[in-house]
Amino acid sequence: MGLTSRTPTEAAPPDPAPGAVAVAGTAGAARARAADGPEGGGDPRPLTGEPLCLDLLNTRWHDRHGHHDLLAGTDGLARWLAGSRAAHRYRDGDLRADAATLAVARQARSALAVVAGRRPPDPPDPAALDAFNRLLEPGRIRRLLTPAGPVERTDVADPARLLGWLAAADYLTLLAGDPGRIRTCADPSCGLYFLDTSRNGSRRWCAGAGTGCGNRAKAARHYARRTRSAPLPHPSA
Ligand SMILES: [Zn+2]
Repeated sequence: MGLTSRTPTEAAPPDPAPGAVAVAGTAGAARARAADGPEGGGDPRPLTGEPLCLDLLNTRWHDRHGHHDLLAGTDGLARWLAGSRAAHRYRDGDLRADAATLAVARQARSALAVVAGRRPPDPPDPAALDAFNRLLEPGRIRRLLTPAGPVERTDVADPARLLGWLAAADYLTLLAGDPGRIRTCADPSCGLYFLDTSRNGSRRWCAGAGTGCGNRAKAARHYARRTRSAPLPHPSA
């Protein structure tokens, strides 16, 4: 028996469950969660609230304390799911924070990282595409006419693989939109992913709480301007 969705779309941000981590909207909200720390109930990551596939990639990050992986265990998986754009699925019990889903989440993250890490004219190799497409194998979208009108439902044969399917399908949705808006932070040491939703498409930094990526660049530009505009020292000085 397959698993059938109850909602027509996956892209709509979910309503946070009571007690669940809210979907990030601002750096301030992210900071509030980050303050909970890895031992608290919040999401400790510097950047949250991105589309599901990018949010999954951002479950690995690093800071001055070292490398972190929110999907190191089922506790972290539960915290991630509760604040992700699939939170409504988690609340409804379609997604579970169990060992099987954790394995799928990590597998999906690896496959996505290879595919998303390449940019034209350097497309993913066939093995990477196979790994990504395997995430989509267990599911399909059924289109129906219901008393409420047309709906699309997700059927996934194996509930444990639902998360992989959702993440891969979400990535396809982003690609079908404006793939140029899928970005990684301009700080090469950061690597966090985001979807640039700015009006002019000029966002370059993750703007993650505590990463300081944009601020570091701003300070460097400011320093360069000051250095350029500083009067040259007098030869006799
Ligand atoms: Zn960054």
